[in-house]
Amino acid sequence: MNKPVGLLTLQGDYEKHQKAFTALGVETRSVRRPAELNEVSALVIPGGESTTLTRLMDRIGLRQPLLDFAVTNPVMGTCAGLIMMSSGLVDEKNSDFGVEPLGLLDCQVRRNGYGRQIDSFTAEVGIDVLDNSDVAFDAVFIRAPRIISVGPNAETVAMHNGEPVAVRQGHLLGMTFHPELTADTRIHQAFVDLI
Ligand code: GLN
Repeated sequence: MNKPVGLLTLQGDYEKHQKAFTALGVETRSVRRPAELNEVSALVIPGGESTTLTRLMDRIGLRQPLLDFAVTNPVMGTCAGLIMMSSGLVDEKNSDFGVEPLGLLDCQVRRNGYGRQIDSFTAEVGIDVLDNSDVAFDAVFIRAPRIISVGPNAETVAMHNGEPVAVRQGHLLGMTFHPELTADTRIHQAFVDLI
């Protein structure tokens, strides 16, 4: 791999992703400006707040360059990053929040879909894209979105309680939980393997 993996560092939980890639011996680079996409081979959109991510992304003119980048380069979105990669939000209230997803993954999501009373939980999930996929992944859900539907262009690669929690569409990957918050680097490895 020639170029490093890019981390969208506009806002949110990108440092832990950096640690995961470092543990795998994979170099990372911060991406904040459109031109910086030329310096990376893949991009992680981290968790954080999809409202803020939308605002900052549009303010710096990153939306179209990111869509162009994603045509051929792997992109992984976690939690708010998945919301940004989704094709739409089903919760009608979301128009008030100003989240404008990128439409990279053929799935519909509901922000904070597990309800406020359960802001955060962990669950063991089986994930198809991993080596040793029979060994469950300890997934950390923090005010996680819920994947309400998955369209024909995307495939569900992880389920929790009978619902999709991770989807893949070719070299694009999104999950409702935070793989960077555990020492298990298999998801980051699977993402690097897409490059
Ligand atoms: N609830 C946040 C949002 O809607 C996502 C939370 C997270 O990324 N941990 O953007």
